[in-house]
Amino acid sequence: MVKRGLLGLLGIIIFIAAVVVIRTINLSYDMPDVGPIELHDFDEEAAVERLSQALQFPTISYDNPDEFDEEAFEGFIEWMAEAFPRVHEELEMERVSDYTLLFRWEGTNDALDPGMMMGHYDVVPVEEGTEEEWTYPPYSGEVAEGFIWGRGALDDKSGTISTFEGVEYMLEKGYTPERTMYFAANHDEEVGGLRGALQVAQLLERRGVELAFLVDEGLPIAEEIIEGIESPLAMIGVAEKGQVNIQLGITREGGHASMPPRMTAIGDLAEAVGEVRDNQMPGRFADLVQATFDPISVELPFIYRAALANLWLSRPIIQRQLSRIPHTNAALRTTAAPTMFEAGIKSNVLPARAEANINFRIHPNDSVEDVVAHVENAISNPDIEVEPWGRWREASRVSDTEAEPYQRVKKSIWEVFDEIPIAPSIFVAASDTRHFVGLTDNIYRLRPIRARPDDRGRIHGTDERVGVDNYIEMVQFQIRALHNLTTSFEESVEMLVD
Ligand SMILES: [Zn+2]
Repeated sequence: MVKRGLLGLLGIIIFIAAVVVIRTINLSYDMPDVGPIELHDFDEEAAVERLSQALQFPTISYDNPDEFDEEAFEGFIEWMAEAFPRVHEELEMERVSDYTLLFRWEGTNDALDPGMMMGHYDVVPVEEGTEEEWTYPPYSGEVAEGFIWGRGALDDKSGTISTFEGVEYMLEKGYTPERTMYFAANHDEEVGGLRGALQVAQLLERRGVELAFLVDEGLPIAEEIIEGIESPLAMIGVAEKGQVNIQLGITREGGHASMPPRMTAIGDLAEAVGEVRDNQMPGRFADLVQATFDPISVELPFIYRAALANLWLSRPIIQRQLSRIPHTNAALRTTAAPTMFEAGIKSNVLPARAEANINFRIHPNDSVEDVVAHVENAISNPDIEVEPWGRWREASRVSDTEAEPYQRVKKSIWEVFDEIPIAPSIFVAASDTRHFVGLTDNIYRLRPIRARPDDRGRIHGTDERVGVDNYIEMVQFQIRALHNLTTSFEESVEMLVD
């Protein structure tokens, strides 16, 4: 009996092992047959020089609106007209809230819904005291060592300016789009976009515009993402996280610190914050998070490949691994970050009141309501008040990756970046696209910037820069995207594999 039982067990193990191996071997990712295409012969040196000039305007968004530097913004707008004369001559332009520029390029077929591409030209300030740490001054626009240096080189002047490079080039070639296109250069993304992008979105809504798609800043082409993987991964942000602040508060009897009761405001609140930390919201390695890994899975070492090919067996392990790394954890689930803690006024007095703020970034699988319910559940002390406050927003919906405009964005990447894996992914930061959710279902957040792990610190940090060759690729991509996205989606350019 025992022997037969063992044999049976062995049989099951062999069967499972066989399934794992077969599924691993069958894992595949088909590259499309797109190129090579002949790229465009624009004046690369002049384009690089223009980005360098754009970086020299300190178009800084400050939290305090009194610090707004009108001269820098006006200067930038004047410069735009000189840098892109055809855009200004042949497209309609209007200024929204004075400093955001909205352009309209009339298409030949008004049966097609218009498309839109945008970016922002405001930047975050350079943190005081770090100016000296920059290899080249932050507003120098220095072109050196194969890079263009300056605040905004990554976020998002390279994206914004390369868009207009593309349009200017197409105009120069005498191109007229079938589809009407809107372009926006937003001026206050870094402080929420309420005067720029929000006003543009409301303006278009009032005019009854429905957009076929919107392309904005977002995910890069990630290089060296995982050890052992040679290939870069181009990511297209098809969803964006939401956000809510939840205040935890407690009122206790105050008094002298010489005879403290067991329950104190600070002690109880600290415990509650700890409970929230220890009870993360659930994250599941499925759908969008899983899709992000699909194209690179074939390149992984066998053991990882086996894990990805056999999620029925390995999902909990993968989830645990991804949860350990902050940036993959952020893609996996709603995250909680305690950002403020307030209590106490004197070293020997028990405070009567303690308050803490926890900042949640909401995954598309969750809602604000889910987050509040989760927090109330996680905290065992019934005396703790749980209150969402301030402005909050739900996560975006997830754009359909089967939709034709998504396929055209992919095609445009492939035409410039040969044989590169492309994956849909979630944008864990916030962009101006949040204001456009009422105008289109197809929102794509991407910039074809080659980003290595150490570049993450350059965004909003020191030594922000973009590669000269990479910037030329960005302009090429922009031209290809304008070609591919401004024609009718009915007469399909050859359908691509996913
Ligand atoms: Zn940005």
